[in-house]
Amino acid sequence: MTTVRRLGIASVLLVAFGASIAYYATTLALRNGHGESAQNVPWVALVFIAALAAGGVMAFWKTVQRDINTISSQMDTMAKTGKIGLVMLESTGELNQIVKPLNEFLTMIRRQTEDLRVENRELQIQFRVAAAEKHNTEAIIFSISDAVIVTNRFDELILANEAAEKLLGFKLTPSLRKNIDQIISNGTLVRLIRETRSNGRNITRKVVEHCIDQKGSPRTFNITLSCVAAPADEVSGVVAVLHDVTREKEIARIKTDFVSNVSHELKTPLSSIKAYIEMLLDGEAQDEKTTKEFYEIISFETDRLHRLIENILNISRIESGVVKVVREPISLTSVVKQVLDVAVIQAKSKNIRLTDSLAPVYYQIEADRDMIYQAVLNLLSNAIKYTPEDGSVNVTVNVDERRKVAVCEVSDTGAGIPVDDLPKIFDKFYRVRANEKMAKGTGLGLALVKHIVETVHDGKLTVTSEEGKGSTFAFELPIIV
Ligand code: ADP
Repeated sequence: MTTVRRLGIASVLLVAFGASIAYYATTLALRNGHGESAQNVPWVALVFIAALAAGGVMAFWKTVQRDINTISSQMDTMAKTGKIGLVMLESTGELNQIVKPLNEFLTMIRRQTEDLRVENRELQIQFRVAAAEKHNTEAIIFSISDAVIVTNRFDELILANEAAEKLLGFKLTPSLRKNIDQIISNGTLVRLIRETRSNGRNITRKVVEHCIDQKGSPRTFNITLSCVAAPADEVSGVVAVLHDVTREKEIARIKTDFVSNVSHELKTPLSSIKAYIEMLLDGEAQDEKTTKEFYEIISFETDRLHRLIENILNISRIESGVVKVVREPISLTSVVKQVLDVAVIQAKSKNIRLTDSLAPVYYQIEADRDMIYQAVLNLLSNAIKYTPEDGSVNVTVNVDERRKVAVCEVSDTGAGIPVDDLPKIFDKFYRVRANEKMAKGTGLGLALVKHIVETVHDGKLTVTSEEGKGSTFAFELPIIV
């Protein structure tokens, strides 16, 4: 029964009780002849009832007030601690009616909060995993030397590594998404990315060869374009990887040139040897002088052939470590003298003035004689090969006692080497295009010299050259003190 109903019953009982007392008191007063007093009885009863009612209301209000305070303080604690519990009242008063649904509501909130907490924890874990994966992916992309760019489905650039920024000349601001055509000036690349995205899953990966100008020089790239797949057959973006194949293409060209050069180089002396042998067999050399001349030519050509094959074999043998290095104290001057004796014939045939200035022979270096001979021979024969007729070649050997090194310098007044070619001339098979017509070659000579001087003997090989004026190749090796 509710308190209001209880109050109602109490009031009715109170009024009935009051009315009975008033009736009884009035009847008693009238019977005893106190008619005046009987008139006051209802008023007295009314005051009495009012006093009793006020007392009841006061008591009721106190209970309600206490319950409200209890609810308010428990709710306050929940708000402060963030812990949702149940509201408990000491009394079984009127407010229990509110407390029951309130507790049901709080229980529901508590359950939902718990669910949300679990969901939130899972989301946090997923977020951390995704962040770590993103970090790893970025680290991989940034460690790649090829240029990598990633776009989204709106053709906006969302990721690019340093190589891409350098190659395409932009600086990516990850927070500021821009369309690729606002960032990348290379129209073909932009078109390729757009096409790949719009073709979607039909073509998941394609490789296109494309030339991009880099600081004025054209470079060839193999561009691999792949779609980033998204659910429901959609494409969420494109990854473009730009691999520089300029060098590979150049090496392929150099190798092809090398094969044709080597076959030409081998064929020329062989044809000459064959022709002179046939002439000898046919009895075309009628006198002894001609016969001797033919034999000398055959011998010269055989030497040339031998030298060429040796050069090719040497480089592969030395590089693969098959050749045993025999280190012994030798005089650089005496090795250079030996080479000069051989080179003088080659110089004479082009009317080249061959001069020298050599340090005393007693300075010694610890080296493999045959290899040093080969290195000096290559430098000297190059100097003669790439110097036009009537030019001059000078060979020096100096000893720097302070630095304790012997320095051999071969300078010429020849064609010189263009600045762009200088860093590459020691590469295997590399031949300077501008000088190709001056002499046949394999592009192996200088690679071999570098290997002998620097890798085998820990020395240093340098070159200075001016196009049209001449070149100076120098190497230095430690002397024995
Ligand atoms: P090659 O067999 O072509 O002579 P090398 O390795 O000896 O090969 O030399 C590489 C290239 O360097 C040559 O093709 C030539 O163009 C250039 N070169 C070498 N020495 C000289 C030089 N003294 N003067 C000008 N160019 C030179």
